This record gives sequence, C-alpha cells and structure tokens, in this order.
Amino acid sequence: MNENMTAHQPKLACPHLIGFNNGRPSLIGSRCANCGEVYFPAAAGCTRCLCTEMTPADLGDEGILWSWTIQDFLPKEPYNSGETEIDFQPYGVGYVQMPSGIKVESRLSVADPEKLRIGMAMRLDVQPYGKTPAGESIHTFVFSPITSAKGGENHG
Ligand SMILES: [Zn+2]
Repeated sequence: MNENMTAHQPKLACPHLIGFNNGRPSLIGSRCANCGEVYFPAAAGCTRCLCTEMTPADLGDEGILWSWTIQDFLPKEPYNSGETEIDFQPYGVGYVQMPSGIKVESRLSVADPEKLRIGMAMRLDVQPYGKTPAGESIHTFVFSPITSAKGGENHG
C-alpha cells in the first residue's frame, strides 16, 4: 500500500488538463468571468460573449456518461501510445457530462460494451496507455464506471 500518492504523480500526456487534490485527479478547465460559460480544455477567450477574462475552473472528478463508443482500431497520429496494428488494445471513448453541464471527451478504462450504459456515474482516474519511443510510460486521464456493489449483488 502506498498512501503517498502526491510524491508519485505519473507522467501525463496532458498535464495542463489535470490537477491533483490529495492524490485525486480532477479536470481543469476555464470559466468566463463575464458570463460563466465553462470550457474544457481551458480556453483563452469565451466564444459565447467574446470576453477574454477567463479564470481556471476545477470541473471535478465525477460525471455522467453521456455517450460512448469503442475504439477498436489503431487511431492515426497524433495518437501516440506507441502501439502497432499488431499489439493495439481497444479502448472505450465517451463524453462525460460534468456537474457544470460541460461534456468532456475522454478515454474510458472499460472497453467492454456490456459494462457501459448511457447515464451511468463515472469517476476520473489516471492510467498508463502507452510508452514513448524511449520506453517511458505515458499516462492520460480516463473515466471509469462507479461500481457501488463491489463483488456483485448478494441477496441471501
Ligand atoms: Zn462569456
């Protein structure tokens, strides 16, 4: 067991998108200071009201699965997992609606259609998805279904 997670923050492909609070990742976007519109990734200006005064916004780490699919072939560049057509592992991709209402496109930790349902609760995590040419693990953010009953239903 290693509780000291802040000392082991993984190498992220997208460090500007993720913040850590007590070892838990959360999505970092931006909010328009004028109209309150939220953006992810963070935007330099608001496309709704054209204001350029934007503040960082912590979008949280839980949302609802809005739509999803399974990526079952190797994406073209700039996808950079280091995988080839031969060793590629399919993965889920979805839109997760955060409490602020924004829908975030994300990789999912689950690639099994049987385990994904529109409307299910999802939680943010960080996991390795490949290696650089130098062999260093690259991490990205993923959403995983929140399973309330670990080990399955057990009605006596
Ligand atoms: Zn605005």
